Amino acid sequence: METIYALSTAPGRAGVAVLRISGAGAGAALEALTGARLPPPRMAVLRRFIDPETQGPLDRGLALFFPAPASFTGENVVELHLHGGRAVVAGVLGALARLPDLRAAAPGEFTRRAFENGKLDLTEVEGLADLIDAETEAQRAQALRQMEGALGKLYEGWRARLVRLLAHAEAEIDFPDEEVPGDLIAKLGPGIAALGDEIAAHLDDGRRGERLRDGVEVAIIGPPNVGKSSLLNRLARREAAIVSEEAGTTRDVLEVRLDIGGVPVTLADTAGLREAAGAIEREGVRRALERAERADLRLVVAAPDAGGFDLAREGDIRLLNKIDLGAEVPAGIIGVSAMTGAGLDALEAALSERVGLAYGASEHPLITRARHREGLTECASALARAGEGGDADLVAEDLRLAARALGRLTGRVDVEELLDVIFRDFCIGK
Ligand code: GDP
Repeated sequence: METIYALSTAPGRAGVAVLRISGAGAGAALEALTGARLPPPRMAVLRRFIDPETQGPLDRGLALFFPAPASFTGENVVELHLHGGRAVVAGVLGALARLPDLRAAAPGEFTRRAFENGKLDLTEVEGLADLIDAETEAQRAQALRQMEGALGKLYEGWRARLVRLLAHAEAEIDFPDEEVPGDLIAKLGPGIAALGDEIAAHLDDGRRGERLRDGVEVAIIGPPNVGKSSLLNRLARREAAIVSEEAGTTRDVLEVRLDIGGVPVTLADTAGLREAAGAIEREGVRRALERAERADLRLVVAAPDAGGFDLAREGDIRLLNKIDLGAEVPAGIIGVSAMTGAGLDALEAALSERVGLAYGASEHPLITRARHREGLTECASALARAGEGGDADLVAEDLRLAARALGRLTGRVDVEELLDVIFRDFCIGK
């Protein structure tokens, strides 16, 4: 295995930059860079870094050595804490590039080695990627729990149970009980059913974990001129933690990213529901409606001087805007004024409650990716087939398929083709 190196912190100016080296040659590289013996394992030492060819000074900083296997990758790892200047980093990277048997790491290569050396399973790798991408508190909590193995342990536990069921089935095939004609399903049925129920309950999660990871979509809809855009602006400005603000790629949907109670929310103003004058506007209306259909939650807006709640359905939050004009607010409807700010607290409270309840962090480990859902669905249907009983060979085969589907989730079995997809999402240096 070649020795690899990369900058682990983000490129650019910073107080400190961390560079990692992993592989059998990591220790030798550190000795060459410092002209000194290796520091004791896992102890930070202050060193002068030099260009091994010219012996010229490059920087002064901390060096740590993590001997295999007690390191992130499971290999010998060296960490250099340099000053985060572009010339410093470029100088040290250049010096490393000129050392023999070292090469720059590919994206995700450190994490991939950690996986291959059994330091992380695939769900933990995904949790790590999500943790790096987490923008809100609830996302962070979910990612950290997954990185620490909550999901992996759950799936491995189920797989271990499946493997035991499979062993029973195989024993039945290899050593049929001569005296008592073996009714396989009488023995295995309860175990199969119990496992099937647990997996079904895990799948039936309202896609909570996936929503938290990807963001919850909230659409503001209503007829023209009720004040949808004004409300969006109000909500965007009042929110303490706007993650980013960007105009939609089309002229008809404007989006802002909000952090509502730790849950990332994309609030879309389907401003396209304007009078559909030209063809472009009509296309805008179509997209706006489609967007509203897809949304996890809809805010339906009406105003005393413009339109009612014709678009509203069960589960929508209904708002009467422009209450400053002096209209009665019917029961079950939140009265607001984008102009004066009246009622916005009640609106935000309602939003937090709805979003937080449905998508906030949960006590149980949750499915966070379509990949998990697919594997679990496959496992569940193989289990259901096995549960129907019949020929022992066929039952065993279905149990084997079910176990393999779970094994793929943690990376225990045939995942080669999956790895490239998963690690591609990582940046260099991770
Ligand atoms: P949209 O077409 O639904 O996005 O509505 P806009 O946000 O563009 O607002 C339409 C008009 O209503 C604008 O002239 C706003 O200034 C006005 N408006 C919006 N909110 C309020 C409000 O709370 N009170 C009053 N009096 N006017 C408002």
